[in-house]
Amino acid sequence: MRIANLDGRAAIVLGEEIADVATVSAGRFGPDPMRLFDDWAAFSAFARGVDRGTGPLDESLLGNPVPAPSQVFAIGLNYRSHADEAGMAVPEVPATFTKFPACLAGPNDVIPITGATIDWEVELVVVVADHTEDVAEQDAWSHVAGLAVGQDISDRELQFAAGAQFSLGKSRRGFGPIGPWLVTPDEVTDPDDLALGCSVNGETVQDARTSDLIFSVPRLVAELSGVLPLLPGDVIFTGTPAGVGISRQPARFLSSGDLLESWIEGIGTMRHRCT
Ligand code: ZN
Repeated sequence: MRIANLDGRAAIVLGEEIADVATVSAGRFGPDPMRLFDDWAAFSAFARGVDRGTGPLDESLLGNPVPAPSQVFAIGLNYRSHADEAGMAVPEVPATFTKFPACLAGPNDVIPITGATIDWEVELVVVVADHTEDVAEQDAWSHVAGLAVGQDISDRELQFAAGAQFSLGKSRRGFGPIGPWLVTPDEVTDPDDLALGCSVNGETVQDARTSDLIFSVPRLVAELSGVLPLLPGDVIFTGTPAGVGISRQPARFLSSGDLLESWIEGIGTMRHRCT
């Protein structure tokens, strides 16, 4: 099942059509995409029975499917290949920071180029279904509402200023695009092994699989929920593989006019113009 934000309203994607959630549920769910997380289990059970669209899928209207999460977790150095290229040791626990929620954006939004060191990081984004506290790894997938493509856009100069301030350097406005929609984990063949990548102006710069994650999705949910409660609609950026601009020889960053395309197998593609 695919759940989109179409022009600010929650929508179920049915091939080339969408079903507006508030319309087909007679107001029981939606229209605000975040309201679905008031009772994700009831919503998803309802949504699985919806087989009739209310209008066409206009992809130009897609917004962030989780526009206002309470908490946004992001994990650094979570692929061995990326730790190697960064010259950093593989951490023993997830290296966690936040992207402040006001930086989040949709799958078609522009990426503002605010300096000379703006970098890409394609990531699998996990969205939490319900109140999740102290869960075991083997139960973790049942607390995941859906998966999406994310870009952990980073201002490297700001990130490494003042010692290091990952959270601020990765939270400039528009630096957290998520999309193109939420895909429920049952919809993909193996949610622990998805191809992901991104390209700049058509040249592939990252190309990996989520099976190479050091801390898998279930492990992250277990580790984080052992520290504090994960709340319905919370977002986890799970980390990026090798191929970011700062680790290239020579380093390469995004410029105004560039087209950044990001994809994950079984989920979809986001296209961002830099400006
Ligand atoms: Zn990242």
